[in-house]
Amino acid sequence: MEEKFTLHLFYMGIISTILAVVFAGIAFYDAFCSRVETDLIRYGETLSSSFEATDYRLPLDEITQEDIRVTLIQPDGTVQYDSIGDVAGMENHLDRPEVQMALEAGNCITHRTSKTSGNEDYYYACLMDNGTILRVSCSASNLLRIYGTAIPYLVIILVALMILAVILAVVMTRQLLIPIKKLPKQMEDPNFQPDQADIYPELLPFISEIQRHRDEKTDMRQEFTANVSHELKTPLTSISGYAELIENGMAKEEDVRRFAGTIRKEAARLLSLISDIIRLSQLDETDGTLPKSPVDLYRIATECRESLLPNAEKRGIILTVTGQNLTILGEEGTLWELVYNLMDNAIRYNRPNGSVAVVVGPDRISVSDTGIGIPQEHQARIFERFYRVDKSHSRATGGTGLGLSIVKHAAERHRAKILLESTIGVGTTMTVVFPLT
Ligand code: ADP
Repeated sequence: MEEKFTLHLFYMGIISTILAVVFAGIAFYDAFCSRVETDLIRYGETLSSSFEATDYRLPLDEITQEDIRVTLIQPDGTVQYDSIGDVAGMENHLDRPEVQMALEAGNCITHRTSKTSGNEDYYYACLMDNGTILRVSCSASNLLRIYGTAIPYLVIILVALMILAVILAVVMTRQLLIPIKKLPKQMEDPNFQPDQADIYPELLPFISEIQRHRDEKTDMRQEFTANVSHELKTPLTSISGYAELIENGMAKEEDVRRFAGTIRKEAARLLSLISDIIRLSQLDETDGTLPKSPVDLYRIATECRESLLPNAEKRGIILTVTGQNLTILGEEGTLWELVYNLMDNAIRYNRPNGSVAVVVGPDRISVSDTGIGIPQEHQARIFERFYRVDKSHSRATGGTGLGLSIVKHAAERHRAKILLESTIGVGTTMTVVFPLT
């Protein structure tokens, strides 16, 4: 952004400088031309009155200026004297506009292309007392030459202004960005009040949006921590309760085995809860930064089937994987968790002797079950951490309430979309659609 800002300011500076130079040049040229006209008139008038005062005997060759052409024209148009041309070969000048106008009005100033020199020339002509016309002229090319001598200075000024534009652009960009660069540090302060800080008002909506997100995140984190403590407490209370019964000798001989079994189950639940929590926080930390490699989802589905088969068989559930190879660029471990959690849920929330069908390809993997289904009003929330439709069912089947959160994270990391179709008492189909790039 800083670079873009600087460049824009620099271009602005350069364009304004060039435009200023061009327009100033045009204005100066105009002023210069009118100055030349007044000088020419003054010179012509002085010359004609000196002429008349000396009874037309002024030695013209000696007094004429190098850049100014002087012509004397007889009333019939014959050129009597010309400071640059050879009078003998010169054509009749009666048709020259300035001569015509001088004859009519006494004097005139004009400019046109000279028939003799071919240059764009300025002319002043005046009718003298003896009927002769005195004409003085100077060439526009002389003006341009004078103008041309200014070009090196103009170039130097232009280069100097360009350097100034670069320096100003850099300095101004830095100045402009100071409040924006200070912002992250200021926002770390919990008492930060955007409307009282030195901040561009245009940024206030963005800042309040960021603050809202941050507050939401903090709330979510606090809620998560509260949920985690609660979830950990439940099995630990039960473990410590049963252990105490055994320790005090209050458990009957035949109950001890049962209690030990419960303690083992609760401990297993604790372990899977802790591993899910750790996994989620790992996924939170490394959002989208891990390297990706080709992973075949069909192979992963068959591997998950192998490891879930004992659970399925225990409940008489038929677990099938069909479809085709689907290789995507991703993280093997995360994708494994995605497929495993979907299949695990499809078994756990199934009815006895039901079935689970996993279909892979061409851009998706879908897991369908013949289970209890998910009521419409819960469907949007089941991907939240610790959200369960039926807490006791989830617990009884060894759920942690975090499986679908991990699925959601894993899908997001692979820019995949999750589609959910479910009918109560009929079954659920969860489909993960991957972008094929
Ligand atoms: P849990 O460990 O409780 O299964 P999940 O995050 O995996 O947690 O799922 C959240 C909730 O979504 C579950 O408690 C359950 O109510 C519901 N659910 C998930 N998968 C299915 C499914 N295939 N059929 C019915 N309900 C499901």
